[in-house]
Amino acid sequence: MLELNLGGVPEEQGSERPEVENTIIVGSGPAGWTAGLYTARANLNPLLITGNELGGQVSLTYEIENYPGFPEGLSGPELVERFKQQAERFGCTVEYDHVVEIGVDAYPFTVRTASGQEYRAKSLILCTGASPRKLNVPGEAELTGRGVSYCATCDGFFFKDKDVIVVGGGDSAVEEGLFLTKFARRVRIVHRRDQLRASKILQRRAFENPKIEFVWNTVVTAIHPGPDGSVARVTARDVVTGEERELTTDGVFIFIGHVPNNELFQGKLHLDPEGYLVVDRKMQTNIPGIFAAGEIMDKVYRQVATSVGQGAAAGMQAERFLAETEAEGYPGIHVDPREFPDPREEWAQEPVTS
Ligand code: NAP
Repeated sequence: MLELNLGGVPEEQGSERPEVENTIIVGSGPAGWTAGLYTARANLNPLLITGNELGGQVSLTYEIENYPGFPEGLSGPELVERFKQQAERFGCTVEYDHVVEIGVDAYPFTVRTASGQEYRAKSLILCTGASPRKLNVPGEAELTGRGVSYCATCDGFFFKDKDVIVVGGGDSAVEEGLFLTKFARRVRIVHRRDQLRASKILQRRAFENPKIEFVWNTVVTAIHPGPDGSVARVTARDVVTGEERELTTDGVFIFIGHVPNNELFQGKLHLDPEGYLVVDRKMQTNIPGIFAAGEIMDKVYRQVATSVGQGAAAGMQAERFLAETEAEGYPGIHVDPREFPDPREEWAQEPVTS
């Protein structure tokens, strides 16, 4: 068990930061802002470090129709701004910086940022989210920003009256494909199966949209530039017949899922085989005092509404952890990440105690 070294811990709110933070929230997506709101309202004077992309993936979403309380829908950036305002209103301090390292083998934990700041914290709430998965085919990396995109909201405007291909068959591909019909003359959704994974309501809208065509049972195996250096065509392979053909197009939008942003945690915290942080029912990782919420730990639901719920739970658990630690001392960093069992397997037997 490690020695505690909490230093003096002034609890006052404001720009003067304490020597040791009560809690640092890493990430500014829906989970992060909600953890900020809850820990601020618990008077923990939280510090939220935004990461390079303020708001995370939701800020790239054109319209959110399924976040409760907003029956008319609202844009991703607007929702992020509202989250931020609400967290700040109760005293969450926001740092526009990017975390490059966390130290978890001594307590308090340490957090180092790209701007050179070093913090110590009694608890961490990790909300680093996930990023778009790449196709990993020839031409993709070279043509990103020259016709290859992972964000219709950001880049759709540049495809006015053009022809675009969308790769994927989930909610993102169909939703973003629908969005692209506002600009493009034709949107072909290229999907590796003959059935969409997307929700029925989105499927229906896509099937009814005259600008959308489907290319079933097909994968994109290469993306090629034209003479001007931007996307001109793709090589597509029919996975049933094995036949390859060229499809001419002006743009390729790729929506084939996400990978968790776990670089900071590798070798330090327990990750599942797909790279998501493993947490218990209290949103706690294998190290006491380190919590996680949102898409860094959730590969199942990935909704704004669920991330918000996880952020609230993580914030509440951080508050309880800090109260317990104050009363009883830190339980110690005694868990080897490699030996930490997946707690979800035990959930069925284990009663919730608090
Ligand atoms: P997703 O549901 O994981 O779908 C990924 C799609 O890409 C699948 O159709 C998959 O094909 C395909 N795919 C995966 N790897 C591929 C590869 N290497 N080559 C070609 N195709 C590949 O991801 P998502 O659409 O980004 O959605 C993520 C989560 O966010 C989901 O839970 C979704 O419900 C949610 N979401 C919700 C909304 C909404 O409610 N409006 C909007 C966006 C996202 P297979 O189907 O064959 O596996």
